[in-house]
Amino acid sequence: MLAEIRGLNEECGVFGIWGHDKAAELTYYGLHALQHRGQEGAGVVTTNGLELKLHKEQGLVNDVFKRVDFSKLSGHAAIGHVRYATQGERSIDNVQPLLFRSQTGSMALAHNGNIMNAYELRGELESAGSILQTSSDTEVLAHLLKRNGNMDTVSGLKDALGQLVGAYAFIILSETRMHVALDPKGLRPLSIGRLGDAYVVASETSAFDIIGAAYERDVLPGELITISDDGLESTRFALPQKRALCAMEYVYFSRPDSNLNEVNVHASRKRMGIELAKEAPVEADVVTGVPDSSISAAIGYAEQTGIPYEIGLIKNRYTGRTFIQPSQELREQGVKMKLSPVRAIVEGKRVIMIDDSIVRGTTCKRIVRMLKEAGAKEVHVRIASPSITNPCYYGIDMSTKEELIAANYSIDKICEIIGADSLAYLSSDGLERAIVSDDSIDQGVCMACMTGQYPVTKNGQLEISYTKC
Ligand code: AMP
Ligand code: SF4
Repeated sequence: MLAEIRGLNEECGVFGIWGHDKAAELTYYGLHALQHRGQEGAGVVTTNGLELKLHKEQGLVNDVFKRVDFSKLSGHAAIGHVRYATQGERSIDNVQPLLFRSQTGSMALAHNGNIMNAYELRGELESAGSILQTSSDTEVLAHLLKRNGNMDTVSGLKDALGQLVGAYAFIILSETRMHVALDPKGLRPLSIGRLGDAYVVASETSAFDIIGAAYERDVLPGELITISDDGLESTRFALPQKRALCAMEYVYFSRPDSNLNEVNVHASRKRMGIELAKEAPVEADVVTGVPDSSISAAIGYAEQTGIPYEIGLIKNRYTGRTFIQPSQELREQGVKMKLSPVRAIVEGKRVIMIDDSIVRGTTCKRIVRMLKEAGAKEVHVRIASPSITNPCYYGIDMSTKEELIAANYSIDKICEIIGADSLAYLSSDGLERAIVSDDSIDQGVCMACMTGQYPVTKNGQLEISYTKC
C-alpha cells in the first residue's frame, strides 16, 4: 500500500558511479529511480580526482537537484543518497552523503541500514576524543576510519567494517577511489552494473535501467569492493555467511521493475499472490489490489483462483504529500484525496482486497470502509505477507511492538478492527517459496519481523540504538 497515505516512507537508497564525465547528472537520474526509498532529503558528492564537492538538501530529488549547478559538480565519479527519516530526526545534518575533510584527504559516505552497535562505538569514539556532528549511525564509520589513520585504505576499511554489527550497504568516496561494502548477512540490497566503461552501484537495479546501465551482479554479503582508475578489486571483510536479504524489500519497499539478488520484485509479488490464493481461497466476484505495491500480488491471486482482477481502487497521482495533518478528520481526508474506490466495479460485489502488508492496521481499516461505502457487499482482506509481530532492528521503520497491530491482537480481532468480512495472511513458507526462485544462488531472506528469528544480534541483544538510515 501507499507509504504516503500513512505519512511514512521507506528506508534509504544509495547510488554510485565511477568513470563517467557526467557522473553528477547520472547520479540525479539514479536517485530519481530510488526516490520511493526516501523523500526527506537527497544529496550528491562528486570527485574530480583532486577534491570532493557536495550538494545536499532536504526535499525530493527533483527539488534538491533543481538548484544544482552541474558545471560546479564536475568530476568522473559521484555518490548519491535519498534519505528517509522518522519523526523528530529531520535535520539537514543527517541528510547524506556525509562529507568529512581532513589533512590526509576527504571522504564521503552514503549508507542504507542500521548499525546496531553505533551507540557503544560512539561512546568509545567520544572517550577517545572524537566529536560527532550528526545523530546518524553512519558517521561512526568515518570516525572509526579516521582513528585507523588514513581514511582511504582497504585494510583500514576492513578493520572498521569488522567492528560494525547490523545491516548496512555503504558507498564511500574519496578523491581517488570508491569503496562499496555490504554487511556480512547481506540484509540490505546492493547491486553492481556497467555503463560502458563506467561502474555503477545502487540499492536497486531500477537505478541502472533509468541510465541504460547493464546489471552485472549483486554485491556479496561481507564483500568490500574498491573501484579506482585501476579497475575493480574485490576483497572480504567477513567470512561468507548465508544471505538474509530483507523480505520486506520484495513485499513492499522495492520497485516492481527492480531485481534483488536476481529475483524480479514484480514476479516475486505475483508468486506471493499465487501462494496466498492456494493457502487462503474465498468465494468472491472480483479481486482488487491496493495501488501500487499490491497490484502484482492481486494479479497473481486472480490468476490462481480464476476470479477476475479488477481496478477497484484508483490512486490519485497529483496530490503530493500532505504535510499538515493536524486532526484525525483531516488525516482521513488525506487518504480520500489519494485513493478512491471505483464504485462501478465494487458496488454490490463480493470483493477480495489484496494488500502487501499490515503494519499498524490504520490503512487497511480505511480502505475496507471506503470499499463498503462504495457499495461492496463483502470485503475479504488477503495479505500477501505473514503478520508482522516483531520489530525490525535493521533499518526499517517498525521499531516497537506497540505500533504493530499483529503483535497485540489475534487475526480474528484484527479482522474485526479493520471491519473486513474475512482476513488471511500468507504463511512464512509461502513467502519464502515466492521469493526463492533459483537454487543455484543463495537467495536466503530475513523474515525476522514475521517469524521472530533474527539473523543478526548484538551479543544476543536486540535494540535500536541510533538514528538509522
Ligand atoms: P498500516 O497498516 O496502516 O501501518 O499501513 C500498512 C501499509 O504501509 C502497507 O500496506 C504497506 O504498503 C506500507 N508499509 C509497510 N511497511 C511499511 C513501513 N515499514 N513503513 C512505511 N510503510 C510501510
Ligand atoms: Fe526486513 Fe523484517 Fe528483516 Fe527488518 S526484520 S530486515 S523489515 S524482513
